[in-house]
Order: sequence, then C-alpha cells, then structure tokens
Amino acid sequence: MIKRPIIDTLEFAHKGQHQTLQLRSEDFSRLTEESMIVNDTVQANVTGGIQEDGKPFVDIEILSALQQTCQRCLGLFDLQINSRSRFIIASREDQLVEIAHEEQDVNTIIAEKELDLVSFVEDELLLVLPMVPLHQDGECESPQIPGESTNLISPFKGLR
Ligand SMILES: [Zn+2]
Repeated sequence: MIKRPIIDTLEFAHKGQHQTLQLRSEDFSRLTEESMIVNDTVQANVTGGIQEDGKPFVDIEILSALQQTCQRCLGLFDLQINSRSRFIIASREDQLVEIAHEEQDVNTIIAEKELDLVSFVEDELLLVLPMVPLHQDGECESPQIPGESTNLISPFKGLR
C-alpha cells in the first residue's frame, strides 16, 4: 500500500502541481473482483493548473488495463483504459451550478483542503468502466451469426 497522497485542490491548481501515482489493486477498496487489474498496475497522472478564463482545474489521466468478462460470450478480455478528464474546481457550492451552466461537458468538484488522490482516482476508474463489459464487435470467442441457429449440434445429425 502506498502512502496516500492528500492534496489541497486549489493550492494544487494554483501552483500547477503534478502527481504521478502507481497504484495496485490493494489501493482500491471499491473495485470488485470481477475487474482484475492487468499487471496489477494503474498509473494516474494528476495535474493542476489554471484555464485561460481563470478557472482552476485538476486534470486526471488514468492508464491501465482491467480484465473483464464479456457479457455476450463470457470470455475474458483486457479492457485498455486511457482516460483523461478535467475537473473544474469550484470554491463554493453555488459556483458548481454556475460552472455547469457556463461550460458544457465539464466535471466539477468542490474545493477541498484534503482530497485523497487515491480515492479520487478510484472514483474516476469506476466511472470509466462499462456497466456491461463486451468485446468489440466481432471479437467474441464464439460469435453468434445472425440468422443461424445457435444450436450447434443439429438434432437431425446422424439420423437417416
Ligand atoms: Zn465476447
């Protein structure tokens, strides 16, 4: 278990700080056993900064691969995760609504003196996981061909 870094979000943004985390499955408490971390490594890059319009933000980038069970063929596959999200920091609750109005498709967080980065990364990781994991089209182990019987053994086989 790594030492869990705690950041002051506004200070982190204003100073343009950066944190790279190398996390393992034991660092995550809410990740279910169905999602096994491939190579047991999740890399997260967290960067603070100020937008041109003056809004402070925290960017979070997650690089990992999680083993998932395809819900169509029940085969295992590695889901590559390469996600990047920006969180605008609001210093007060009422600013959250304001920012949501001004900016489209943006995440907001309320400023915190003590944000647990590991938990923040875990929140984001859980969000990018699909509700229903599926292979890419055509990559299932026993693809079902539309129009064909899924019953591979014909009941008439062998009958004469
Ligand atoms: Zn599949």
